[in-house]
Amino acid sequence: MVTELLQTDNEISARESINRAVATLQAGDVVALPTETVYGLGADALDPVAVEKIFAAKERPHFDPLIVHLPHKNAYLDIATVPDGVKHTIVQLVETFWPGPLTILLPKKGIVPDLVTAGLPTVAVRMSEHPVFKRIAKSFGNPIAAPSANRFGCLSPTSAEAVLDQLEGKIPLIINGGACSRGLESTIVRVSPPENGPKPVIEIIRPGPITEDDLKKFGKVVFAERNTAVEENSPEAPGQLQSHYAPRTMLRLLEKPEDFSPEPGKKYGLLSYRGQEKDGYIQLHEWDEIRVLSPGSGRVAEAGIRFFSTIREMDDLFLDEIIAEPMPDRGVGKAMLDKLRKASS
Ligand code: AMP
Ligand code: MG
Repeated sequence: MVTELLQTDNEISARESINRAVATLQAGDVVALPTETVYGLGADALDPVAVEKIFAAKERPHFDPLIVHLPHKNAYLDIATVPDGVKHTIVQLVETFWPGPLTILLPKKGIVPDLVTAGLPTVAVRMSEHPVFKRIAKSFGNPIAAPSANRFGCLSPTSAEAVLDQLEGKIPLIINGGACSRGLESTIVRVSPPENGPKPVIEIIRPGPITEDDLKKFGKVVFAERNTAVEENSPEAPGQLQSHYAPRTMLRLLEKPEDFSPEPGKKYGLLSYRGQEKDGYIQLHEWDEIRVLSPGSGRVAEAGIRFFSTIREMDDLFLDEIIAEPMPDRGVGKAMLDKLRKASS
């Protein structure tokens, strides 16, 4: 299969590319699309034959459910139900964070194929704020199932080139919408009615760009240890999902500089948070390569945007191992630490 890469850098090319993307979706095929988080591999969420092509192209196991992207804010009501006791909170979250990188788990309606949710009774929904994605979703009309456009277990792509690298020959079309402005996958939450206090419980299933701080005025925020919904669904899931987000090169989060014991002759690269000696990593070793996520005083949001693209760049440097410095465990720092721990395991 030839993979076509279409541009959206001016209004004429954008219009043509958007039309092609919509026609591809209508034909029941897959297309890689830009979102503000990472590039997604989209298909008509209501057509199981089209959705199956996502699993095939990504070599994604069927126990791993897909996120569904909506054409407009209220479209979640077409594919999901909202339990009593959380209606108010769901409306608040939708009104506050959509379009944007917040994915909400809700009980699914029958029109959503089981393939999309891996047989789970819930469906994961969000609305992207990427201008090209929004136009495609609106013009297509049906919800679009779109997991990250990488091969299963590999790095999430934050540019059209990164998608091409991983999926060339496996999908017919990639729409180039530039570099992703957030650079990390959406935050996934589940909302439950109040337990003891007056506040509903907002459980963060996957940390991402919408942080604990952003969410806490809408409920009591708790972090799920793991995605138990998916794991309980499939005994094979935990091990596989742990090794998510891995580059080809070995990658290890070095929680404390003291724990580093380099092997002679090996080439090590340092993925530094802010490139400061006082953090204890820069001068630890004669690194073959150093890349810095947020030079200077260090900002987690900036580091988040550059996270996957920087790891991808380091993956091409023929290193034996990439050693990652921890970043602050706050804001989107939590999401990066989560991914680094998974890649290290
Ligand atoms: P992505 O590959 O970024 O599209 O993310 C898909 C992830 O969303 C899955 O690996 C799950 O962790 C999560 N997810 C999607 N749908 C559900 C669901 N119905 N229940 C629980 N988690 C879900
Ligand atoms: Mg993914």
